[in-house]
Amino acid sequence: MITHLLSIDLEDWFHVLDNDATSSPNQWEKFPSRVEQSTERLLALFDKHDVKVTFFVLGWIAKKFPKLVKQIADNGHEIGCHSQNHPLIYLMSRKEFEDDLYNSLSLLRDISGQAVNMYRAPGFSITRECLWAFDILVKHGITVDSSVFPANRAHGGLAGFPTEPFIIKTSFGNLKELPISTFSFVGKRVAFSGGGYFRLFPRFLHSYLLNKATKPVIMYLHPREIDVSQPRLSLPLMRYIKTYINLQTTYNKLDYLLDHFSYGSVSEVISKVNWLETKLINS
Ligand SMILES: [Zn+2]
Repeated sequence: MITHLLSIDLEDWFHVLDNDATSSPNQWEKFPSRVEQSTERLLALFDKHDVKVTFFVLGWIAKKFPKLVKQIADNGHEIGCHSQNHPLIYLMSRKEFEDDLYNSLSLLRDISGQAVNMYRAPGFSITRECLWAFDILVKHGITVDSSVFPANRAHGGLAGFPTEPFIIKTSFGNLKELPISTFSFVGKRVAFSGGGYFRLFPRFLHSYLLNKATKPVIMYLHPREIDVSQPRLSLPLMRYIKTYINLQTTYNKLDYLLDHFSYGSVSEVISKVNWLETKLINS
């Protein structure tokens, strides 16, 4: 049985990208946080299924809620890094990216007591224009990344990149990559296993694709995706739908899939990949 990745990007309802109302970290303090209650529900669900997962934690959240991050680590889950302030990487200089990474890693390593050597970029925003980000990740001790979205999307994406686990060769050494899972639909790669895609597609499609998978499916969710009572942002129609669709069914869908399939953390998943057989890409 394949162990699929279950990862949570730990951030709040106001960290939705691409909207002016909540885009600046200076504003975040004034919004009522809802991340603790949703994360508690997730932690209870993971305990019920006896599954250990990986949380890619935003540094800003760790600074504000160190006890929550400590609790996640104490419950046996893995802590990865989701940047300090949730920037789009393709809008940053190398120096800005490195500073943001350094700050978040220092904080997360300190609070969790874990090595923290896994990374996911906000909005999967590493594009062909900023592949240098992979070099900087390895320079700072990151050994596994899950930022590659191997299809077109609003925040860039890396269409044409491998759709199964692969290795990125950087000037500082190799990086194991767990790209977001896609399936082929009328000649296009379509994501299904995380965020709005996970909520949009019905349970039977998830079951079908998971049963058919020959490689681990890389799944990601945010605590806000099980929070039906979160404040709604004013977004363009399509983004509004994608951001808030099926919030009311997500928890039960996740519960069902945890019952019927095997999930685990990044460490569990990478230990079962035969890396000698995977593709090699230069950064
Ligand atoms: Zn994020």
